[in-house]
Amino acid sequence: MEVDTLFYNGIVLTINPVFEVIEDGWVAVRGETIERAGKCQAGETLPAAKTLVDARGGIILPGLVNTHTHLPMTLFRGLADDLPLFTWLNEHIFPAEATFIDPDSVAHGTALACAELLLSGTTTCCDGYFLEDAVASAVARSGLRAVLGQGVIDFPAPGVPDPARNVEAAETFARAWQKRCPTITPSIFCHSPYTCSAETLVRAKAAADRLGLVFQIHVAETGDEKSKLPGPANLSPVAYLDSLGILNERTLLVHAVWLEAGDIDIIARNKASVSHNPQSNMKLGSGVAPVDRLLAAGVTVGLGTDGCASNNDLDLFCEMDTAAKLHKVMGMNPTLLDARTVLKMATIDGARAIGLGDKIGSLEPGKQADIIVIDTNQPHLTPLYHPASHLVYAARGADVRDVMIGGRMVVRSRQLLTLDVEEVMASVRDLYQPKIHARKQPL
Ligand SMILES: [Zn+2]
Repeated sequence: MEVDTLFYNGIVLTINPVFEVIEDGWVAVRGETIERAGKCQAGETLPAAKTLVDARGGIILPGLVNTHTHLPMTLFRGLADDLPLFTWLNEHIFPAEATFIDPDSVAHGTALACAELLLSGTTTCCDGYFLEDAVASAVARSGLRAVLGQGVIDFPAPGVPDPARNVEAAETFARAWQKRCPTITPSIFCHSPYTCSAETLVRAKAAADRLGLVFQIHVAETGDEKSKLPGPANLSPVAYLDSLGILNERTLLVHAVWLEAGDIDIIARNKASVSHNPQSNMKLGSGVAPVDRLLAAGVTVGLGTDGCASNNDLDLFCEMDTAAKLHKVMGMNPTLLDARTVLKMATIDGARAIGLGDKIGSLEPGKQADIIVIDTNQPHLTPLYHPASHLVYAARGADVRDVMIGGRMVVRSRQLLTLDVEEVMASVRDLYQPKIHARKQPL
């Protein structure tokens, strides 16, 4: 029986448990899911399909998963660089957010982020920000798949002026979006152990567990975080969260750079996951997460870009390249974080880290049809011996030609089908750039 869409004439990287690569393969999609994958055999005809997508010898793989974003922060791309974290935050980012973040700016910044993500092959992101309802509406319009959390912080925040109501607001958002859109999964996002009290953290985690949702939190991003914690002075940020019962298989620890002896065991024992954001950590001079040791301990590690103000782009291909090379130079060992490992972090392991491992992250029958096609017919991708090598070390987001999410084509021949890219860019340039520029602080 005819399938809906057939991707063919490409190297299929399934990212299945045996990392199967099908040379000259095809992937058949029916409805929103993958029906099967196969190999083009001489003399055999391809499965009949309503729509054919010819990969022209390129690479067909699962869409990438970005495990940590703050989508509306595209508005602040390049606003303030080359500064210490707390100067950057307190003198530039927080004042800009206080002045310019409202539902309209969040919607426009999010649309811009979605356009950038989709055109560069990311089909799923995990986000936390303020006014997340406006984020969710904009994400839903774009077709991007996302895990979204309303930010919880013990300070007055955009949309939640009374911090006493922060957990309630996050839970209200989560309940509202639990069944509203098939591509959106709500989550609970606490900013950090130093901006949320123990009571806030415990209440927020209880809400996440009650609803069966992923709980996201920035942790151990900088070396002095420990000194800002309210708990006993000898506890590391990870041990502190463990002492509060925050860690379990639905906890996503973002950054996890400054881990102390015993922290990796705590994370592994509780089956918590980690989002590794190497470019953001490098740009803010925060340090390097011990990813090789986390992986050796069996911890699930996904890749993330973090917000656009600390990266300054959302291209997960660049992030893969950085991750693979950073750990090699830090460990003075070129075998660390090989291309396959990093590619898994950007696909199946990222999916697992955000609670979607059974739905996305690989091209296997029954999974959601989140599929991208890489155009390898370009000088920087020629010749082609090992597709995983090209994807990590040579390709970039601009090499993504086609993108499907849940069986729906969202990018075709590098054209975004769900949003008017010119309009999205013009709205940010015309409505926000002049105002933000006029109020920007000197560097
Ligand atoms: Zn972040």
